[in-house]
Amino acid sequence: MYLKTLNLRQFRNYQDQKVEFTAAKTILVGNNAQGKSNLLEAVELLATLRSHRMARDRDLVQEGEAIAQINATLERQTGVSDLSLTLRRNGRRSVALNGESIRRQMDFLGVLNAVQFSSLDLDLVRGGPEGRRNWLDTLLIQLEPVYAHILQQYNHVLRQRNAFLKRHVETLDATSLHSELAVWDAQLATTGTRVIRRRDRAIQRLAPIASAWHASISGSTEILQINYVPNIPLEDNHPEEVQQAFLAKIQQRAIAEMHQGTTLVGPHRDEIELTINQTPARQYGSQGQQRTLVLALKLAELQLIEEVVKEPPLLLLDDVLAELDLSRQNQLLDAIQDRFQTLITTTHLGSFDSQWLKSSQILFVKAGE
Ligand code: ATP
Ligand code: MG
Repeated sequence: MYLKTLNLRQFRNYQDQKVEFTAAKTILVGNNAQGKSNLLEAVELLATLRSHRMARDRDLVQEGEAIAQINATLERQTGVSDLSLTLRRNGRRSVALNGESIRRQMDFLGVLNAVQFSSLDLDLVRGGPEGRRNWLDTLLIQLEPVYAHILQQYNHVLRQRNAFLKRHVETLDATSLHSELAVWDAQLATTGTRVIRRRDRAIQRLAPIASAWHASISGSTEILQINYVPNIPLEDNHPEEVQQAFLAKIQQRAIAEMHQGTTLVGPHRDEIELTINQTPARQYGSQGQQRTLVLALKLAELQLIEEVVKEPPLLLLDDVLAELDLSRQNQLLDAIQDRFQTLITTTHLGSFDSQWLKSSQILFVKAGE
């Protein structure tokens, strides 16, 4: 797929800027705080309706304005699409495709696919499990847009159940607790099972691809393993069995939940384990080695999305290329060739291989222009 144009209106520090992409690789160069990452964030929002910076909509809308708009023209094998996302300070969003507004977000989500790689992704190795869950969920949204809806349902039930537990902790009224809680338990198990099964399937597909990339970049003495460690024990990926295991664990933890007033069981407590030669990657190796790991994950994401959606997604490289040594830069370059349209940000062109510079469109970014 190929992003032809992007138009940002009152988005972050962009007042009204249209950009045309004229090559498979575009390098956005500029000093700090000029709007390079903001532009990539806009593309990411069109692809996932999420921002990896976890920005709220009121931060995305330009200061002093009420709404922001991101428009794009995208060419796919199936034809050309116009995408439009409107963000409001009050958090209400609307999306449109080819001028027609779309009611369900999941009908918008499958149109543009993109993999983002920024220095924040290094937290995938170093940070806590929440970041890894978010990463996997964002990937799943692109593999199966319906997952956005499934996740929303699960989070909704989780919030309600937590509110219910909290009320009971506060009032210490245990009499009606069991029967009312049973209703929430059933819903938590049903929606949670959908989340768990999809996460499991995604990791099973992604893990071998990432290991192969990792072996090829690091020289194959280091073996990367990615394990899905669900909070609910998962013997096999069968819906009834997962659901039963879910309900059984809820019962086990019932007393602890009542004391703590919060839900202790479910995929909001999943872990995705990254190990190298059976050692947790967090404790392992230099920053460069951790970067290699994340690079392998990102290349695996690209490849998996391409396999599933049958078209190469975009690659958004935010300030990471200069941090890779020359051999890893070249490996990345070989992997993407001109197959994946790539937007790259940097503060200085000096760190680029001349091969990159020659084949790229170069855009200078200054104060939102
Ligand atoms: P760096 O090289 O440091 O990563 P960058 O070019 O990627 O810089 P961005 O993060 O894209 O920088 O842009 C940051 C700029 O955008 C800052 O000047 C910030 O004040 C401005 N900015 C962010 N949000 C808004 C907003 N809602 N309204 C106006 N300006 C904003
Ligand atoms: Mg930046």
